[in-house]
Amino acid sequence: MLNYRLLGHPVNHSLSPIIHHLFASQFNLNINYVAQDVVLEALPVVLKQFRAQGGLGANITAPLKEAVYKMCDKKSIAAQRSQAVNTIYWDEDGALWGENTDGVGFLKDLKKHYKNIRDKTILMLGAGGAAAGIMPSILDENPHVIYVVNRTEQRAINLVGTINNNKLQVCSLEKLKQAPFDISFDIIINATSGSLKDELFSIPPSIIKNKFVYDLVYNLKQPTPFVQWAREEGALEAHDGLGMLIEQAAQAFYVWHQKRPDTQKVYVFFRPH
Ligand code: NAP
Repeated sequence: MLNYRLLGHPVNHSLSPIIHHLFASQFNLNINYVAQDVVLEALPVVLKQFRAQGGLGANITAPLKEAVYKMCDKKSIAAQRSQAVNTIYWDEDGALWGENTDGVGFLKDLKKHYKNIRDKTILMLGAGGAAAGIMPSILDENPHVIYVVNRTEQRAINLVGTINNNKLQVCSLEKLKQAPFDISFDIIINATSGSLKDELFSIPPSIIKNKFVYDLVYNLKQPTPFVQWAREEGALEAHDGLGMLIEQAAQAFYVWHQKRPDTQKVYVFFRPH
């Protein structure tokens, strides 16, 4: 049995265990992937115990991505660029590796809906681990500029400073709320966890009218509050993060097993129509 985990807080509604078991069944792999609720303080002990019990790797979710980055012995380039980790594993020498598959997963799914983001103006709402994870991959596609807005502005300043690319700019929430806003965005990405708690990141609806909207949050039963709001306010298209979730999981699966699962089959499993 190959043992994997999802570590984060909260994790009780995560689809990751189902996704990884569906992937594994495509290759007749016998895995055991379990979600474990872990708070930051307990993380070192939990990792040690998991490893001692034969754990091979784990996915890391909010709010642990930046903390786990600091604990890894070795880091992939994607992890180093974002300074956040969503996938870990131990190599044969026992070194703990940190990887970040959020960027690959986000772009793979985004491109199913929006082919080319070159020269596009992007608004990124949020500056947490998920925003950090996807930012370098978006920059690789040569957008015109990415404006980062966060409830706590200092976190946006820190993120932009860490990634250090002249296409990144911090925009204050106050400025964004001044309607009419003087910048026209092509793509609006919600990388906050606000809509999970049914608290909309309050921005003027004129910003998303006729624009492409992508919410990293997902919800199987109904549109996320952010997607719902964007559709009601006339967004051109609004998608949630289920596709990204499956694609980033597929990349993690590849890191662990060197096998590429069929992601469309898994998407259809969750959304048959
Ligand atoms: P995180 O590191 O905890 O950061 C949370 C972010 O959300 C911060 O920018 C925070 O702003 C903001 N936020 C939280 N509550 C808010 C509110 N009520 N109003 C405005 N902003 C609020 O979490 P994360 O790892 O970045 O994850 C963010 C979201 O992305 C989560 O919902 C997660 O489920 C989702 N996600 C999805 C995928 C996928 O594959 N689809 C992958 C990764 C993450 P402050 O700094 O001001 O607190």
